[in-house]
Amino acid sequence: MTSRPGLAAYASLSSQSRGRRYPEAPAPTRTEYQRDRDRIVHSTAFRRLVYKTQVFLNHEGDLFRTRLTHSLEVAQLGRSIARSLRLDEDLVEAISLAHDLGHTPFGHAGQDALHGCMADHGGFEHNLQSLRVVDKLEERYPQFDGLNLSFETREGILKHCSRVHAQQLEDAEPGGVGGRFLRREQPGLEAQLCNLADEIAYNAHDIDDGVRSGLISLAQLGEVPLFDRYRHSAQAAHPHLNDAAMHRRLLFEAIRLMLSAQVYDVIDATSAALVQAAPDSADAVRHCAPLVMFSDAMREQSTVLKRFLFKNLYRHPQVMETTGRAQQIVRDLFAAYVQAPQEMNHAFAQQANTSDGAVKARAVADFIAGMTDRFAAREHERLTGQRLLD
Ligand code: MG
Repeated sequence: MTSRPGLAAYASLSSQSRGRRYPEAPAPTRTEYQRDRDRIVHSTAFRRLVYKTQVFLNHEGDLFRTRLTHSLEVAQLGRSIARSLRLDEDLVEAISLAHDLGHTPFGHAGQDALHGCMADHGGFEHNLQSLRVVDKLEERYPQFDGLNLSFETREGILKHCSRVHAQQLEDAEPGGVGGRFLRREQPGLEAQLCNLADEIAYNAHDIDDGVRSGLISLAQLGEVPLFDRYRHSAQAAHPHLNDAAMHRRLLFEAIRLMLSAQVYDVIDATSAALVQAAPDSADAVRHCAPLVMFSDAMREQSTVLKRFLFKNLYRHPQVMETTGRAQQIVRDLFAAYVQAPQEMNHAFAQQANTSDGAVKARAVADFIAGMTDRFAAREHERLTGQRLLD
């Protein structure tokens, strides 16, 4: 199987993939990126996303987004934009479904706590960890560690990377996915698109979850022009939505209009940038400025929305309170496993059975990062006797 038919010259063509770290024969009916997507969907780390926090802790309600449903929404938005731009949808789907695999339990609170625990050992960063999951931590194949994904999927998963980490990656794998951060090049368009689809998805679903939780109100959202405009359009087109009993529908309709506007904005702004830069291959894209983008006006409005969510939702006292408990769980677990590595699952206990403090700490960090929220809370109770989350 070569590439998907009908793709643009600037798309990532499966037939021109930079390949896998361990060479494999092509699959008879699937492109390389379809194969990557399938490997991700069947991985253990992917299934764990269902019990990992996005913003609200998993136990706070069944209808809030989790990392899994977030990743599915990113994939849906990404694919829909990719089709319009004639990019490879399967590659977009693979990157979207894998982009959050490295997240710790308890969302950013968990990551911050684990980063603190790893301060003397190179820190903890979720993008690097996502790559580590697909390159090393998944144990499914007889011949190699990890999922042996193609270069382009791995490049998309490593969304951000410091120069120090990029150099380490480049030393370990010359010509690999760390090099672009040293050369200051862009990734392929499919990877660029996943970044933006991620932002569009969480801005929209965090409004929905925020209102559902009662932590932000429709009235408060009046200070966000991007949302407010579509709320008014929805009310003008459907006056019965002004009825208090219809407020959920009003919220959904405003979010739907806002999502559509952002998708069309990306398609228009990116199409114009592609005409201007005229890259004739996926490699040419890497030497251009970023090409997948919002218009300036939409970029500005999206930033206002992000600031609103940061201030009113992510830093809401009620969110911060559970955040504090989640961080204590991660810190206590880290201390407990460093003290007694045999309490971890066998493979991690074995890795940690060393006098090298950095290797031991990394094995503990890998074990904790892989946990779901509820497993982390249960392990914490088992090891400390304290129940910090119900
Ligand atoms: Mg994400």
